[in-house]
Amino acid sequence: KEEVNIISGALDLRKKTVKDVMTKLKDCFMLPINSVLDFETMSEIVKSGYSRIPVYEGHRGNIVTVLFIKDLAFVDPDDNTPLRTLCQYYQNPCNFVFEDVTLDVMLKQFKEGHKGHMAFVQRIEEGDGDPIYETVGLLTLEDVIEEMIQAEIVDE
Ligand code: ADP
Repeated sequence: KEEVNIISGALDLRKKTVKDVMTKLKDCFMLPINSVLDFETMSEIVKSGYSRIPVYEGHRGNIVTVLFIKDLAFVDPDDNTPLRTLCQYYQNPCNFVFEDVTLDVMLKQFKEGHKGHMAFVQRIEEGDGDPIYETVGLLTLEDVIEEMIQAEIVDE
């Protein structure tokens, strides 16, 4: 029974898009790049429980890099390190995908690994002038696997 579910879940990956399963931007735990890594901010990061934190400049739709929790290993909260300094040091790239990409494509991309296991979801806003790219959410390998096995993965 479970195997049948997984097979049908795998087949359905081609019918579902990134937009269907992403975590919406408003629900994302993110940090502005002008944050200071003091005790309060670092506690909030740890409390959030996420291993990757999108970092934005200006407004939340403008994601410029990602902070990995492991990047904080050598940061002393008493030093009040600017987040920008740490981001400039690590320069972790962000991977963007369009909202209408299907999940089989994402599984393949995540499997290949070179772009990491997180992607930011973009929508094109067609206006009068140039098209505007708006970030609307994020997606990780876990979101794709949950669709495939058709069950929630309970976090550690
Ligand atoms: P983690 O390693 O941080 O637990 P996972 O890749 O296991 O992240 O993803 C677990 C779920 O949390 C997924 O649904 C993913 O979309 C979501 N997620 C990951 N990072 C964040 C974040 N910074 N803010 C909000 N949701 C997130």
